Amino acid sequence: MMTPPTTNASADIAIPEAHPNYRHTKIIATIGPATDSEEMLGRLIQSGVDVMRLNMAHGTGQWVQEIVARVRRVSKQVGRDVAMMIDVKGPEIRTGPVDAPITLAVGDTLRLCVREADVSADASVGVTVNYPDLPRDVGVGATVLVDSGLMRLRVLEIDEFTVHCEVLTAGTLGSRRHINLPGVEVKLPSLTEKDKDDLRAGVEAGIDFVALSFVRRAADVDALRDFLRELGSPARIIAKIEEQAGVRNMKNIIRCSDAIMVARGDLGIEIDFHRLPLVQTELVQACQAEGKPVIIATHLLESMISSPIPTRAEISDVCNAVREQADAVMLSGETTTGSYPVESVEVLKHILRSTEPSVSSQLNDRIKLIEPKDKMLRSSAILAQDLGQSGILVFTRSGFLAYTLGALRPRGVPIFAFTDIEPIYRQMLLPWGVEPFLMEFSDDPEVTIRNALERLRNNKWCPSGAWLGVITNALAHEKIIDTLQLRRVP
Ligand code: PGA
Ligand code: MN
Repeated sequence: MMTPPTTNASADIAIPEAHPNYRHTKIIATIGPATDSEEMLGRLIQSGVDVMRLNMAHGTGQWVQEIVARVRRVSKQVGRDVAMMIDVKGPEIRTGPVDAPITLAVGDTLRLCVREADVSADASVGVTVNYPDLPRDVGVGATVLVDSGLMRLRVLEIDEFTVHCEVLTAGTLGSRRHINLPGVEVKLPSLTEKDKDDLRAGVEAGIDFVALSFVRRAADVDALRDFLRELGSPARIIAKIEEQAGVRNMKNIIRCSDAIMVARGDLGIEIDFHRLPLVQTELVQACQAEGKPVIIATHLLESMISSPIPTRAEISDVCNAVREQADAVMLSGETTTGSYPVESVEVLKHILRSTEPSVSSQLNDRIKLIEPKDKMLRSSAILAQDLGQSGILVFTRSGFLAYTLGALRPRGVPIFAFTDIEPIYRQMLLPWGVEPFLMEFSDDPEVTIRNALERLRNNKWCPSGAWLGVITNALAHEKIIDTLQLRRVP
């Protein structure tokens, strides 16, 4: 492997005072009852949320369409754009409805029934489960976790349609509780009928990202990609890694996805949770090797669901994500039902901004750049770091150049990415360090560059006289060539 380029560039991030929301690390907030009003959406956008997530474990297609339209309207009002993500629930196993919550003590028997008719087969407690293969996929002695890991069961006996379990951890069983089967490769299809309905609604609403839950292998992502293509959607795919097969197959999954989410909620149930930080690091590094964005999700500021300040451990966890150079950090319960959603975003933003200047300015040395043009991107990053108080200006119609520049992690250097395609513009809100702009391109590359430089100056992104590295096409005797130019803001 080649030696990574290093730089002694100044540690100062060229953040203009006019843009206090600029950070390298992006913020994703999940929208829920606490935040789906116009007022709250406006406050979240102004606080610096970059991507909004709609969790389809709880939402309907109609809700998606309402919220996307509302977010776009509010964005216009407050003058800041955000990208929209829908998170489809995928092959999730759940218990069925119960009339009233059932209290279970240690040693009790709980029957998991794949047939409704067996629920009241004997005096012990029975509930339905939505997974017909359950009796074939678990073995006697296996662990079954109910209610996001709160209740632990051991399989005692299995017959054709029922799994008999012993309760190891006491608890109360409500309706439709989440079941995890650690180590079992669940055979449910990667996209359920509800997922497909949700996707149709999301695509119609103009969603920018689709997150796919419980991705087990590359083929799960391919199936979603085919479905999106059929619908004619340009949305990018975020594969959620949240169980053991996904961890095992991470390399292939990362290759065929557009981004990865380290979904620590389920992942912390499906693997030994002591190993969670190690698997997180492994995933972040694997994504950096492939040049794909990586999102750290779940429980970042969990205590802020009911407290106005985070725990010290949560602050350290967010700080760690920044030091690992994740592309984005995500809030879930903090912003869906929490009492302090805006405060959570503010806290996150302040941790990100206080940590970023201390992060290594060495470029990503895991990524393999093969094409000459990609190597030129690295040169532009070194140039801008060396100039100090600089930035990289790039023009892109696919977003690829901006995604690769972000993957290079030029700490201290904003990546100003111009495109003339609206969905690409919003998709560039996710990767590390990228600040996207939507602008018409001229047939004359020189006019396009001048317009971009003027826009950066007029909107106070760069002062007049600042030097930038510019990646652009140029005309040389009728031929279009790729260039890296050193340009000064007029
Ligand atoms: P979820 O995924 O919120 O859809 O469960 C995230 C996670 O499991 O961490
Ligand atoms: Mn999950």
